[in-house]
Amino acid sequence: MAIISFDPSTYYDMTVTCHVTGCRNNGRIWACNSVYSNADGSPDVIDGRCGTPVEILTAVKTDPQPIMS
Ligand SMILES: [Zn+2]
Repeated sequence: MAIISFDPSTYYDMTVTCHVTGCRNNGRIWACNSVYSNADGSPDVIDGRCGTPVEILTAVKTDPQPIMS
């Protein structure tokens, strides 16, 4: 798994994949945009189909950063 370091409290556009056997997303690569990295810089991305944390393949800072009201 690639090690990606995240700045805290930052939004990232990611591509992710799932490795859960039997999951319909297994091996599929999809985009997750504007994922918040949380205060400690460790974003939580869960596959909605199987409820398991995904592998983050790529991540770039969302540009511009979303403004949260
Ligand atoms: Zn899955």
